[in-house]
Amino acid sequence: MIPFNKPYLNGKELANIAEAAATGKISGDGYFTKKCHDFFEYRYGFKKVLMTTSCTDALEMAAILLDIQPCDEVIAPSYTFVSTVNAFALRGAKIIFADSYEDHPNIDPAQIERLITSNTKAIVVVHYAGVACDMDRIMEIANRFNIPVVEDAAQAIDSFYNGKPLGSIGAFGTFSFHETKNIIAGEGGMLVINDDRYIHRAEIIREKGTNRSSFFRGEVAKYGWVDIGSSFLPSDLIAAFLYAQLENIDTIQMKRKAIWERYYERLSAALMGSDISLPIMPDYATNNAHMFYLVCKTLEQRTSLISHLRECSIHAVFHYLSLHKSEYYINKYDSDALPYSDSYSDCLVRLPMFYELELEQVDFICDRIIENIV
Ligand SMILES: *Cc1c(COP(=O)(O)O)cnc(C)c1O
Repeated sequence: MIPFNKPYLNGKELANIAEAAATGKISGDGYFTKKCHDFFEYRYGFKKVLMTTSCTDALEMAAILLDIQPCDEVIAPSYTFVSTVNAFALRGAKIIFADSYEDHPNIDPAQIERLITSNTKAIVVVHYAGVACDMDRIMEIANRFNIPVVEDAAQAIDSFYNGKPLGSIGAFGTFSFHETKNIIAGEGGMLVINDDRYIHRAEIIREKGTNRSSFFRGEVAKYGWVDIGSSFLPSDLIAAFLYAQLENIDTIQMKRKAIWERYYERLSAALMGSDISLPIMPDYATNNAHMFYLVCKTLEQRTSLISHLRECSIHAVFHYLSLHKSEYYINKYDSDALPYSDSYSDCLVRLPMFYELELEQVDFICDRIIENIV
């Protein structure tokens, strides 16, 4: 069976964990956590980076930092992972779902503007498959109404919008190092803070509502409970694993891009004139090869393709179910139909994509797709 995903360890992960254990300090903000912070701030110019236990936690921190209150409204795409909006629902916010573009799963900025009211307290955008949303348009709208933007960049490591790293454009960027992402730590994430005003409080929220970080820098004589918060920082063992991946990020990205390009090259020619479409890359976006997907014409066509691939021992998968139609939200949703989100729910199929996938396997997968379609 060719799996959909296979976590890749480049070799130094376990040695780094042993090294972290040998220091005698394996709780949060140890040696490797600092190395990860420095890596991201240096490589991408992020103003402030805080490692978290997941992207979900980074989103929850963003919701606390934005002081989201019950009945505040938060605009977000419906075609996304639950954590994008659950973080805000936890604070009591009403989620105002926006539709995708017709030809791309990303949020359509024209939908955002329509949905803004005097209660809108945040706009959360998701760079689906690591491909940038139209951030100039989104920031222009957000700035005009003075609403902060959170970039859910869980899939968007090492990807750019007009030369700017994703996650560096809104007030916050949130990243994931879950084993299904390009750079992994099992479970892990980070919060990028691009607005100075949030940095001090972010450190407190991440440390159970205490000013422990200030204490360790010698800024205060003792530390205590100063705000709400939780335990959002990962063990240094996680950071040790992650740092091994970061040291290899260019190799990992190069290999993933070669796989992506091979899929595109083989399938774009063969599917020309068929009713299946390939991913679209806007001019302003780079491709970080997080995901390779196809968009079928109908649910039936997708079901048939997935089961054909399954019979050929290839594990291809569908993706999100529209969140406005989820069991949790359907009875709370009282707004417009979101046809494009629903159509990606029905028609998008993700193909195997992982570091160790061989180009011959990509060719095999493409051949099996082509024989099913043409
Ligand atoms: C993976 C993912 C998350 C969640 O990341 P975790 O680190 O597992 O919490 C959130 N949003 C999007 C868009 C994702 O793809």
